[in-house]
Amino acid sequence: MNYYACPICRSPCRTISPEGFQKVDCPRCGTYKIGHTPLALLEAQDIPKEIRWNISSYIHSLKEYTLKAETIEDLKEVHPPRVSERAESLLHHLTRQYPVPGTKIKIHPGNMIYIFEVLSKQEEPEYIESLKVPLEIFYEYLPILSAGWITSLKELIFFLTEYLTSDLGYLEKRENNEYFISARGWDYVQNTQKANDSNSIFVAMSFSSDLEDFYLNLVEKGIKKAGYDPIRVDRTEHVNRIDDEIIALIKRSKMVVADFTEQKNGVYFEAGFGLGLGIPIIWMCRHDDLKRVHFDTRQYNTIELGSRRL
Ligand SMILES: [Zn+2]
Repeated sequence: MNYYACPICRSPCRTISPEGFQKVDCPRCGTYKIGHTPLALLEAQDIPKEIRWNISSYIHSLKEYTLKAETIEDLKEVHPPRVSERAESLLHHLTRQYPVPGTKIKIHPGNMIYIFEVLSKQEEPEYIESLKVPLEIFYEYLPILSAGWITSLKELIFFLTEYLTSDLGYLEKRENNEYFISARGWDYVQNTQKANDSNSIFVAMSFSSDLEDFYLNLVEKGIKKAGYDPIRVDRTEHVNRIDDEIIALIKRSKMVVADFTEQKNGVYFEAGFGLGLGIPIIWMCRHDDLKRVHFDTRQYNTIELGSRRL
């Protein structure tokens, strides 16, 4: 079988079409387009494999990317995101690669060790000719590495066994190194997917008339200016009662803006509920009320707003 090395990550890949914009279907980078000039530049440069793999993960996350010569230098500066974001991206990817609940995730340790052995030799020019396993194996394993920005076996084990299985319970590990996405994992992915598709930002705050100007002039305007829809549920009719509608709205929101001025219990609940779902929270409080903010939330960076009325 003829193998081609992906111009970006040098992984074995299926086809590189010969004319004009080449379309590459790489197991690690996904499908992307590349012209003759960037192709020649990548071939001529001695880019370390760790940098190639970062570029590959970045391109994989963008889908249908067109690589241009002028962006190569910027791409070399791409760094992996935070550990929690890598774990989340890995989990989301697993639900796409294994979309049927209950399916075994194929991570055979022997194959993985072989894959990493192969990857470590990528800089040797003859490596691509010496491959002895079917290409399908690479298409099964490399997207997993790419989604989690994973560059070593140690990291893979950390994300799968420790982070996603033992710590978060989003995966289940059974005998013989078999992994499954747990009920909790599915629930988490589906909730965050809904949130990612949404354009709304849930606003949790006191609805006293003192803060009305603050809401209209700062919060609402700011959210709209950023291109989002502010969602505010006026709780005056159901004081201190968190109803199903509020829960559903938070679940569907991309973000929660939580203003703790006037210390309303509902705001703490809504921020905590959003936090538990993995939804980003913007913590805010008016300057003169900041000292009253509950101790448990002080670990988060709270935006302190001026003491004068807005
Ligand atoms: Zn690639």
